[in-house]
Amino acid sequence: MKHRYFILPLVIISLMLLVIDYNKEIVNKKVFSDNKEINYPFFNNDKIDKYINNYLNEYIVNDSENNIFIDYDYIDNDDLCYMTFYKYILNGNVISSNSDSFEIDIENGSIIKVKNTSFDFDFVTSRKIDTDKKLVALTFDDGPNYNTNKILDVLNKYHVPATFFVLGSKIKGNEYILKKMKDSGMEIGNHTYNHLLLTKYKEDKIKKEITDTNNLIFEITGKEPKLFRPSYGSFNKKIKNISEMPIIIWDIDTLDWKYHNSKKITSRVVNKVKDGDIVLMHDIYSATSNALDNIIPMLVNKGYSFVTVSDLFYYKGITLEKGKVYGYAR
Ligand code: ZN
Repeated sequence: MKHRYFILPLVIISLMLLVIDYNKEIVNKKVFSDNKEINYPFFNNDKIDKYINNYLNEYIVNDSENNIFIDYDYIDNDDLCYMTFYKYILNGNVISSNSDSFEIDIENGSIIKVKNTSFDFDFVTSRKIDTDKKLVALTFDDGPNYNTNKILDVLNKYHVPATFFVLGSKIKGNEYILKKMKDSGMEIGNHTYNHLLLTKYKEDKIKKEITDTNNLIFEITGKEPKLFRPSYGSFNKKIKNISEMPIIIWDIDTLDWKYHNSKKITSRVVNKVKDGDIVLMHDIYSATSNALDNIIPMLVNKGYSFVTVSDLFYYKGITLEKGKVYGYAR
C-alpha cells in the first residue's frame, strides 16, 4: 500500500514532463503571406522566433510571382540547433532551389547564418545539381543501335544524364531505345538523317536532313530537339544560317571510333577534362560503354557533376543562340 503514495506523484511529474516536451516538439509557428503558409519549429525564444519569422516573410515576398514551396530540415542538438530552409521554385517541375542554413543557440538566443548555398535541378531529370562542382557534359553520336542500351544502362547505374545526338536513319526499329533515353532523363539532339557531309550539299537537302530528323524524334518522344550537331562536326556559313538550333560540337574527342580501346578512351577523357567541357563519344561501340563505366566514377572522384548539354550552358549562364557554334561552356 505504501508504494502508491510514491508512485502517484511520480506518474504525475512524468506526465507533466512529457506534456512540456511534447509541446516543444510539435508546436509550430505559422507564417502567412497571401495564401501561403509555412510551418517551422517553435523555439520558445522570442528573439529567435522573430528572426525566423522575418526571414521567412522576406523569402516568400521576394518570389510572389512563382509557385514556391518551402521545406526545412531541423537538427536538434540540445541547446545548439541547425535549421536549413529549402526554397523550391516550381513551374510544373522544380526549376530551381536554394537553401539557407542557420545555427541557432537557444540558450543565448543567438542565431548565425552559417551557409548560403545554392543548388539547382536538371530540367530534364529533376536531379539535384551541385553548381559549386565542376560540370561536364557527355555526348554520344551516331546511334541508336544495339549498343546504345548498354550505354544507357551504365549511365542509369550511376544516375548520370547525358546527351545523345541521334541519326534519323537509325531510329526505325529502335524507337524503344529513344523512348528509353527520354524515360532515363537523357537529352536527345539532332545529328542529321543520313550522316552526310552537309557542307557539300544544297540548302534544301540540308534543311530536309535536319527537319526529317526533328520530326521523327518528336513523333516518338513528344519533344523536339533543341540542339544540332552536324555530322562530322563540320559546318559552314550556310549551315549556320539554316540551323534553327544552336550548333553543338565538343572540345574533348575520345576518338573511340578509331581506337576501340576502353583504356585509351578513358584516359583521353580523365586526363584532359576541364570544367565546362563537352566530351564526344559514340554510343554504338562496345569499347565506349566499357570506358564509360570507368570514366564516370573517375570524374566523380575528381569532383565533377554530369549534366545534359542544355543544362551545362544554363548553369554556366550562357544563352544558346540558333546558328551559333559551341564547343564548351566557359
Ligand atoms: Zn557522327
